[in-house]
Amino acid sequence: MIFDPQHRKDNRSARVSMALFRISQAIKKVTQAESDALGLSPVQIQALLFAAYTRSDVATVGNFAGAIGTTHVTAVKIINGLVGKGLVSKAQKPEDRRVTLLNLTAEGRVIVSQLNHWGRSLEEALGSISDEALADFELGLGAIISAMQQRGQLVVAEPCLGCMHFHPNAGDAAAPHYCGLVQKYLTHEASLQECPEHTPSIEV
Ligand code: SF4
Repeated sequence: MIFDPQHRKDNRSARVSMALFRISQAIKKVTQAESDALGLSPVQIQALLFAAYTRSDVATVGNFAGAIGTTHVTAVKIINGLVGKGLVSKAQKPEDRRVTLLNLTAEGRVIVSQLNHWGRSLEEALGSISDEALADFELGLGAIISAMQQRGQLVVAEPCLGCMHFHPNAGDAAAPHYCGLVQKYLTHEASLQECPEHTPSIEV
């Protein structure tokens, strides 16, 4: 087990796992401090960022739960807290009334515009590391993320570019791109939003 230093001595995956665990603890601490300064919790901020950057037709409570790795019930509680603060509004999806879509209110958009520096401490901590070392790290992290995605432990939402279902410039001026998965034409703006169904066209 990764917490046993003797086990880690002879096991690289245990050492990397422990390093990732320690990093996750540090990130939790840093984001908590940054969130406290804004009077919100880290998950509330994640919910606001999710509503801001996820394509509007997939910005659902269920996808938010998947994005932060929690249950639907917990996600509903987080969202309801933000609805109570007047930062988020909920609406039923026209095609499926069981699905709840999330939107930022005008006040929520103001808060999101103030989040430019959220997560900055983490970026600053990496500032002293050489670009070459970061490139290797990025490659390794990509492989870990991909392995965890395949095990259903992680959801990575990304814009359309690089997705195997993306057919750019296949439509008209109003909706120039096509998604083979949802079989819909997308506006350029929608293709730049994050999609939880993004499937990389090149396996890492
Ligand atoms: S599945 Fe891929 S192409 Fe379709 S909307 Fe999502 S990211 Fe875009």
